[in-house]
Amino acid sequence: MARCTRCGRELDSDDIGAYLKFCDRNATSYLCIGCFCQDLQCPESYLRERIEFLRRHGCALFPKKQSSQ
Ligand SMILES: [Zn+2]
Repeated sequence: MARCTRCGRELDSDDIGAYLKFCDRNATSYLCIGCFCQDLQCPESYLRERIEFLRRHGCALFPKKQSSQ
């Protein structure tokens, strides 16, 4: 699994999807949502909400999660 290029945290599909969606569609290395939000100067909760919105609308970058929450 890929890791954040800044803090080294292991990335999940949401981290990678968010980076592709909101930063660079052609990226091959990524930031985790925490580091990405620091760059965007927005709260992490805001980005999480955007991700859930896109997931509900079937965005291919954010596949439905297997685990129930
Ligand atoms: Zn990071």
